[in-house]
Amino acid sequence: MTRVICVIGGKGGVGKTTITSNLASALADFGQKVIAVDTNLTTPNLGLHFGVHLAPFTLHDILKGKSKLKDSIYIHPNGVNVLPASMSIDDLEGVDVSRLHEITFSLKGKYDFILLDGAAGLGREAVSGIMAADEILIVTNPDLPSVADALKTIKLAERLGKKIIGVVVNRIRGKDYELTKEEVEEMTGYPVIAMIPEDKNVSKAIFSKTPVVNYSPNSPAALEIKKLACSLLGIPFVERRVPRGFLLFEKLIRWALRK
Ligand code: ADP
Ligand code: MG
Repeated sequence: MTRVICVIGGKGGVGKTTITSNLASALADFGQKVIAVDTNLTTPNLGLHFGVHLAPFTLHDILKGKSKLKDSIYIHPNGVNVLPASMSIDDLEGVDVSRLHEITFSLKGKYDFILLDGAAGLGREAVSGIMAADEILIVTNPDLPSVADALKTIKLAERLGKKIIGVVVNRIRGKDYELTKEEVEEMTGYPVIAMIPEDKNVSKAIFSKTPVVNYSPNSPAALEIKKLACSLLGIPFVERRVPRGFLLFEKLIRWALRK
Protein backbone atom coordinates (compact mmCIF):
# COMPACT_ATOMS: atom_id res chain seq x y z
CA MET A 1 0.00 0.00 0.00
CA THR A 2 1.30 3.46 -0.89
CA ARG A 3 1.94 5.87 1.98
CA VAL A 4 1.38 9.49 0.96
CA ILE A 5 3.23 11.75 3.40
CA CYS A 6 3.36 15.55 3.31
CA VAL A 7 6.52 16.98 4.91
CA ILE A 8 5.46 20.35 6.21
CA GLY A 9 5.77 22.70 9.17
CA GLY A 10 4.48 26.21 8.70
CA LYS A 11 7.73 28.13 8.84
CA GLY A 12 10.02 28.60 5.85
CA GLY A 13 13.66 27.50 6.01
CA VAL A 14 13.26 24.89 8.77
CA GLY A 15 14.39 22.05 6.49
CA LYS A 16 11.25 20.61 4.86
CA THR A 17 12.88 20.20 1.44
CA THR A 18 16.09 18.85 2.99
CA ILE A 19 14.14 16.25 4.98
CA THR A 20 11.95 15.34 1.97
CA SER A 21 14.89 14.76 -0.39
CA ASN A 22 16.94 12.87 2.17
CA LEU A 23 14.14 10.80 3.66
CA ALA A 24 13.17 9.81 0.10
CA SER A 25 16.79 8.83 -0.60
CA ALA A 26 17.17 6.91 2.67
CA LEU A 27 13.91 5.02 2.05
CA ALA A 28 15.14 4.17 -1.47
CA ASP A 29 18.38 2.86 0.08
CA PHE A 30 16.22 0.52 2.16
CA GLY A 31 14.70 -0.87 -1.04
CA GLN A 32 11.51 1.22 -1.12
CA LYS A 33 10.05 2.62 -4.33
CA VAL A 34 9.79 6.33 -3.64
CA ILE A 35 8.70 9.48 -5.45
CA ALA A 36 9.37 12.98 -4.10
CA VAL A 37 6.98 15.66 -5.35
CA ASP A 38 7.56 19.42 -5.07
CA THR A 39 4.24 20.94 -4.03
CA ASN A 40 5.84 24.33 -3.58
CA LEU A 41 4.69 25.84 -6.86
CA THR A 42 5.63 29.48 -6.26
CA THR A 43 9.08 28.97 -4.72
CA PRO A 44 10.12 25.41 -5.57
CA ASN A 45 13.57 24.00 -4.87
CA LEU A 46 13.25 20.24 -4.49
CA GLY A 47 14.66 19.91 -8.04
CA LEU A 48 17.86 21.62 -6.91
CA HIS A 49 18.41 19.02 -4.20
CA PHE A 50 18.28 16.29 -6.87
CA GLY A 51 19.92 18.21 -9.74
CA VAL A 52 16.74 18.26 -11.87
CA HIS A 53 15.98 21.97 -11.51
CA LEU A 54 16.23 22.50 -15.28
CA ALA A 55 13.85 19.68 -16.14
CA PRO A 56 12.05 20.24 -19.45
CA PHE A 57 8.68 19.09 -18.05
CA THR A 58 7.46 19.75 -14.53
CA LEU A 59 4.48 19.57 -12.21
CA HIS A 60 3.42 22.96 -13.58
CA ASP A 61 3.08 21.42 -17.07
CA ILE A 62 0.98 18.56 -15.71
CA LEU A 63 -1.32 20.90 -13.79
CA LYS A 64 -1.74 22.96 -16.95
CA GLY A 65 -2.46 19.81 -18.96
CA LYS A 66 0.63 20.42 -21.14
CA SER A 67 2.52 17.27 -20.23
CA LYS A 68 1.88 13.70 -19.17
CA LEU A 69 2.74 12.59 -15.64
CA LYS A 70 5.28 10.02 -16.84
CA ASP A 71 7.18 12.64 -18.88
CA SER A 72 7.68 14.88 -15.82
CA ILE A 73 9.14 12.22 -13.53
CA TYR A 74 12.94 11.97 -13.37
CA ILE A 75 14.97 9.17 -11.85
CA HIS A 76 17.90 10.21 -9.66
CA PRO A 77 20.94 7.87 -9.71
CA ASN A 78 20.04 6.89 -6.11
CA GLY A 79 16.76 5.43 -7.38
CA VAL A 80 14.38 8.12 -6.14
CA ASN A 81 11.77 9.30 -8.65
CA VAL A 82 11.42 13.07 -8.60
CA LEU A 83 8.54 15.21 -9.80
CA PRO A 84 9.96 18.75 -9.73
CA ALA A 85 8.13 22.05 -10.09
CA SER A 86 9.18 24.74 -12.53
CA MET A 87 11.63 27.41 -11.35
CA SER A 88 10.38 29.85 -14.00
CA ILE A 89 8.08 32.65 -12.89
CA ASP A 90 6.40 32.52 -16.32
CA ASP A 91 5.05 29.05 -15.55
CA LEU A 92 2.94 30.31 -12.63
CA GLU A 93 0.11 31.55 -14.78
CA GLY A 94 -2.83 29.20 -15.18
CA VAL A 95 -1.72 26.65 -12.59
CA ASP A 96 -4.34 25.18 -10.30
CA VAL A 97 -2.60 23.81 -7.21
CA SER A 98 -5.85 22.44 -5.80
CA ARG A 99 -5.58 19.65 -8.42
CA LEU A 100 -2.59 18.22 -6.56
CA HIS A 101 -4.65 15.42 -5.03
CA GLU A 102 -5.41 14.15 -8.57
CA ILE A 103 -1.68 13.72 -9.10
CA THR A 104 -1.09 11.81 -5.87
CA PHE A 105 -4.18 9.71 -6.64
CA SER A 106 -2.76 8.63 -9.99
CA LEU A 107 0.65 7.87 -8.43
CA LYS A 108 -0.87 5.68 -5.71
CA GLY A 109 -0.22 1.97 -6.20
CA LYS A 110 2.94 2.65 -8.22
CA TYR A 111 5.14 3.53 -5.22
CA ASP A 112 5.68 2.47 -1.62
CA PHE A 113 6.06 6.12 -0.59
CA ILE A 114 4.92 9.40 -2.11
CA LEU A 115 6.67 12.24 -0.25
CA LEU A 116 5.23 15.70 -0.79
CA ASP A 117 7.60 18.58 -0.11
CA GLY A 118 5.22 21.05 1.54
CA ALA A 119 5.11 24.81 1.13
CA ALA A 120 5.69 27.30 3.93
CA GLY A 121 2.79 29.16 5.52
CA LEU A 122 -0.82 28.05 5.46
CA GLY A 123 -1.84 29.39 2.08
CA ARG A 124 -3.37 27.46 -0.82
CA GLU A 125 -0.17 25.60 -1.69
CA ALA A 126 0.42 24.34 1.84
CA VAL A 127 -3.24 23.39 2.30
CA SER A 128 -3.29 21.56 -1.05
CA GLY A 129 -0.20 19.59 0.01
CA ILE A 130 -1.83 18.57 3.27
CA MET A 131 -5.08 17.66 1.54
CA ALA A 132 -3.29 15.53 -1.07
CA ALA A 133 -1.59 13.46 1.67
CA ASP A 134 -2.84 10.81 4.09
CA GLU A 135 -0.12 11.38 6.67
CA ILE A 136 1.74 14.46 7.85
CA LEU A 137 5.34 14.73 9.01
CA ILE A 138 5.97 17.97 10.85
CA VAL A 139 9.37 19.66 10.56
CA THR A 140 10.47 22.35 12.98
CA ASN A 141 13.62 23.92 14.44
CA PRO A 142 14.20 23.99 18.21
CA ASP A 143 12.97 27.57 18.63
CA LEU A 144 9.66 29.17 19.60
CA PRO A 145 8.72 30.80 16.25
CA SER A 146 9.21 27.52 14.35
CA VAL A 147 7.25 25.49 16.90
CA ALA A 148 4.45 28.10 16.99
CA ASP A 149 4.09 27.84 13.20
CA ALA A 150 4.32 24.04 13.36
CA LEU A 151 1.49 24.02 15.89
CA LYS A 152 -0.77 25.94 13.50
CA THR A 153 0.01 23.43 10.76
CA ILE A 154 -0.81 20.59 13.15
CA LYS A 155 -4.16 22.13 14.06
CA LEU A 156 -5.06 22.56 10.39
CA ALA A 157 -4.00 19.01 9.52
CA GLU A 158 -6.07 17.69 12.44
CA ARG A 159 -9.12 19.62 11.21
CA LEU A 160 -8.61 18.09 7.77
CA GLY A 161 -8.62 14.65 9.41
CA LYS A 162 -5.00 13.79 8.59
CA LYS A 163 -2.84 11.43 10.60
CA ILE A 164 0.16 13.19 12.11
CA ILE A 165 3.11 10.82 12.24
CA GLY A 166 5.21 13.00 14.52
CA VAL A 167 7.65 15.87 14.68
CA VAL A 168 11.16 16.12 13.24
CA VAL A 169 13.33 18.66 15.05
CA ASN A 170 15.98 19.84 12.60
CA ARG A 171 19.12 21.98 12.93
CA ILE A 172 19.88 21.16 16.54
CA ARG A 173 23.09 22.84 17.70
CA GLY A 174 23.02 21.69 21.30
CA LYS A 175 22.74 25.21 22.73
CA ASP A 176 21.09 25.71 26.10
CA TYR A 177 18.67 28.28 24.66
CA GLU A 178 17.20 25.69 22.27
CA LEU A 179 13.90 23.98 23.04
CA THR A 180 14.34 20.43 24.29
CA LYS A 181 12.68 17.32 22.85
CA GLU A 182 10.29 17.23 25.82
CA GLU A 183 9.36 20.90 25.40
CA VAL A 184 8.63 20.42 21.69
CA GLU A 185 6.51 17.35 22.52
CA GLU A 186 4.60 19.22 25.19
CA MET A 187 3.97 22.22 22.93
CA THR A 188 2.94 20.25 19.84
CA GLY A 189 1.21 17.32 21.56
CA TYR A 190 3.03 14.85 19.27
CA PRO A 191 6.14 12.69 19.69
CA VAL A 192 9.45 13.92 18.37
CA ILE A 193 10.51 11.05 16.10
CA ALA A 194 13.81 12.50 14.84
CA MET A 195 16.40 14.96 16.08
CA ILE A 196 18.62 16.13 13.21
CA PRO A 197 21.76 18.09 14.12
CA GLU A 198 23.03 21.21 12.41
CA ASP A 199 25.54 19.78 9.96
CA LYS A 200 27.63 21.64 7.39
CA ASN A 201 27.52 18.56 5.16
CA VAL A 202 23.86 19.43 4.42
CA SER A 203 24.84 22.69 2.68
CA LYS A 204 27.76 21.01 0.91
CA ALA A 205 25.39 18.29 -0.34
CA ILE A 206 22.87 20.84 -1.63
CA PHE A 207 25.71 22.62 -3.44
CA SER A 208 26.62 19.34 -5.12
CA LYS A 209 22.90 18.66 -5.88
CA THR A 210 23.10 15.29 -4.13
CA PRO A 211 21.15 14.39 -0.97
CA VAL A 212 23.40 14.32 2.10
CA VAL A 213 22.56 10.65 2.81
CA ASN A 214 24.38 9.86 -0.45
CA TYR A 215 26.89 12.74 -0.45
CA SER A 216 28.12 12.13 3.06
CA PRO A 217 26.45 8.93 4.32
CA ASN A 218 28.39 8.81 7.60
CA SER A 219 27.68 12.44 8.52
CA PRO A 220 25.65 13.16 11.69
CA ALA A 221 22.63 14.51 9.74
CA ALA A 222 22.65 11.57 7.29
CA LEU A 223 22.71 9.02 10.13
CA GLU A 224 19.73 10.65 11.89
CA ILE A 225 17.74 10.78 8.65
CA LYS A 226 18.46 7.08 8.03
CA LYS A 227 17.19 6.42 11.57
CA LEU A 228 14.01 8.34 10.70
CA ALA A 229 13.56 6.20 7.58
CA CYS A 230 13.91 3.05 9.71
CA SER A 231 11.34 4.31 12.19
CA LEU A 232 8.86 4.94 9.34
CA LEU A 233 9.51 1.42 8.08
CA GLY A 234 9.26 -0.05 11.59
CA ILE A 235 12.68 -1.69 11.32
CA PRO A 236 15.64 -1.37 13.70
CA PHE A 237 18.41 1.04 12.70
CA VAL A 238 21.75 -0.67 12.32
CA GLU A 239 24.60 1.75 11.77
CA ARG A 240 26.60 0.65 8.74
CA ARG A 241 29.37 3.10 8.00
CA VAL A 242 30.31 3.41 4.35
CA PRO A 243 34.08 2.67 3.99
CA ARG A 244 36.26 5.77 3.59
CA GLY A 245 37.95 4.43 0.44
CA PHE A 246 34.57 4.12 -1.28
CA LEU A 247 33.61 7.68 -0.27
CA LEU A 248 36.89 9.04 -1.67
CA PHE A 249 36.30 7.18 -4.93
CA GLU A 250 32.77 8.65 -5.17
CA LYS A 251 34.18 12.10 -4.46
CA LEU A 252 36.64 11.66 -7.31
CA ILE A 253 33.85 10.65 -9.70
CA ARG A 254 31.76 13.67 -8.63
CA TRP A 255 34.76 15.92 -9.17
CA ALA A 256 35.33 14.43 -12.64
CA LEU A 257 31.65 14.90 -13.57
CA ARG A 258 31.24 18.34 -12.02
CA LYS A 259 29.48 20.97 -14.14
P1 ADP B 1 12.48 24.63 3.88
O1 ADP B 1 12.17 23.65 2.78
O2 ADP B 1 11.77 24.32 5.16
O3 ADP B 1 12.27 26.04 3.45
P2 ADP B 1 15.23 23.89 3.37
O4 ADP B 1 15.21 22.40 3.40
O5 ADP B 1 15.24 24.55 2.03
O6 ADP B 1 14.03 24.48 4.24
O7 ADP B 1 16.48 24.35 4.25
C1 ADP B 1 16.80 25.71 4.39
C2 ADP B 1 18.31 25.82 4.51
O8 ADP B 1 18.71 25.23 5.71
C3 ADP B 1 19.04 25.11 3.38
O9 ADP B 1 19.88 26.02 2.76
C4 ADP B 1 19.84 24.01 4.04
O10 ADP B 1 21.16 24.03 3.60
C5 ADP B 1 19.81 24.39 5.52
N1 ADP B 1 19.64 23.19 6.37
C6 ADP B 1 18.55 22.43 6.49
N2 ADP B 1 18.76 21.44 7.39
C7 ADP B 1 20.02 21.61 7.86
C8 ADP B 1 20.84 20.91 8.80
N3 ADP B 1 20.39 19.86 9.49
N4 ADP B 1 22.10 21.37 9.01
C9 ADP B 1 22.58 22.45 8.34
N5 ADP B 1 21.86 23.13 7.44
C10 ADP B 1 20.59 22.72 7.20
MG1 MG C 1 11.34 24.01 0.90
